[in-house]
Amino acid sequence: MTQEKGMRCLVTGGAGFIGSNLVKRLLGLKYEVTVLDDLSSGFRKNLRADPRLTLVEGDVRDGKAVRRAIEGAASVFHLAASVGNKRSIDDPFHDAEVNVLGTLNVLEEVRRAGAGRLVVSSSAGIFGELKTLPIREDHPVEPDTPYGSTKLCAEKLSLAFAKLYGFGVVCLRYFNVYGPNQRFDAYGNVIPIFVFKLLRGEPLTIFGDGEQTRDFINVRDVVQANLKGAAADGVTGAFNIGSGTRISINDLVRRIVAASGRRAATVGHGPPRAGDVRDSLADIGTARSRLGFEPAVGLDEGLP
Ligand code: NAD
Repeated sequence: MTQEKGMRCLVTGGAGFIGSNLVKRLLGLKYEVTVLDDLSSGFRKNLRADPRLTLVEGDVRDGKAVRRAIEGAASVFHLAASVGNKRSIDDPFHDAEVNVLGTLNVLEEVRRAGAGRLVVSSSAGIFGELKTLPIREDHPVEPDTPYGSTKLCAEKLSLAFAKLYGFGVVCLRYFNVYGPNQRFDAYGNVIPIFVFKLLRGEPLTIFGDGEQTRDFINVRDVVQANLKGAAADGVTGAFNIGSGTRISINDLVRRIVAASGRRAATVGHGPPRAGDVRDSLADIGTARSRLGFEPAVGLDEGLP
């Protein structure tokens, strides 16, 4: 992505949590931005009115809608997806249609339009239960859920198109992302759920013993990774995007309680959830060296 003012980008899923944070930053950098979003889990209100922003309300499963939206785009950020393990277990067909066939539409239109670079949002969910810690890019990919499987398929398709048609593709495997515009009522986003419940004085439920660990990354750093991915001319591949640190859910609760200024929270435990891995921690060495990615927002600063 050559950073020229007035240049147009397409952000699929731009009305969602991560997409809307990316759109805000792109507009701040003076890009013209088209968002393609069916508003199934994203919101119009996540996007501020801006003369350089065009919202195309449409579905990535609709090739014609993707073709319209991609017009004039020099870079494409593909975030639109059916997100979450539980949702994918409940409806694997929907998951596959949006995440696999939707991605194929985006790839086909990037190829046809000759758009410069493509940055695809992938997920640490492709790895499944970890075998080594931290998780490097070459860790075995054995997803535990339809969601992880469809994200892996989308990644592989993207990299195959890059090889076949010679355009640059960067797939970013996010670990646990948190930050503004994240829903507390959707697919197990533990930080906003805990904050919401804590502020309402409701008990927090931890699935399992709470000693499971996660690598939480602030959405500002995920936005940074997208910009680096788009700017990394000549680089194609898949990269882990996390903070490179991990914290147990029990510790997370303590940090959230401290950040809220409350003295304590009522915490209960439920059974572990299907499809949840025990531990997670990204090795971000490759993203550092090849994309120039450097996480900058720690949990203490980033917690709401
Ligand atoms: P989100 O649900 O907030 O955003 C997804 C957006 O895509 C929404 O605005 C939704 O309306 C849109 N969308 C869904 N189906 C669509 C369709 N068929 N056509 C057009 N638009 C559609 O989720 P998010 O957390 O912002 O996720 C963004 C991307 O990041 C996804 O690709 C997801 O797999 C990936 N990811 C997120 C996390 C995380 O922790 N949030 C972790 C790993 C990967």
